[in-house]
Amino acid sequence: MINLEEAQTRLAAIQCPICHKSDFAIHPRPEQSFAEQSHTVMCKGCRYTFKLSIPTRTISQTDPDTANWLAGLPCPACQETGVRLDFRCMPNVRDSVVFVTCTACHHPFIEKAPMEAYE
Ligand SMILES: [Zn+2]
Ligand SMILES: [Zn+2]
Repeated sequence: MINLEEAQTRLAAIQCPICHKSDFAIHPRPEQSFAEQSHTVMCKGCRYTFKLSIPTRTISQTDPDTANWLAGLPCPACQETGVRLDFRCMPNVRDSVVFVTCTACHHPFIEKAPMEAYE
């Protein structure tokens, strides 16, 4: 499972939807749920907050639709399909972003998720 330090470094790939900075602090205490732990992320620029979720169970068991979608995602580095979900976040109500790692070459990248995959 990804650690918070790593998640915080990877978050620099997205921008705050309010002030467009990429400097975030992750609240260390998680809220546990059945399949994931969620953390509050705060933008250091404007104090806007949003949720970040780290899966704690194998996603193919808890969320088969998302697992199928991830299995078909092409890696921008090696063009192979299939990624591991590291964490996801919702910077605003319309967007969900997944942070993934290619299972073939271990290239980390982010992808906008189709919202219906999470319902
Ligand atoms: Zn901000
Ligand atoms: Zn790859």
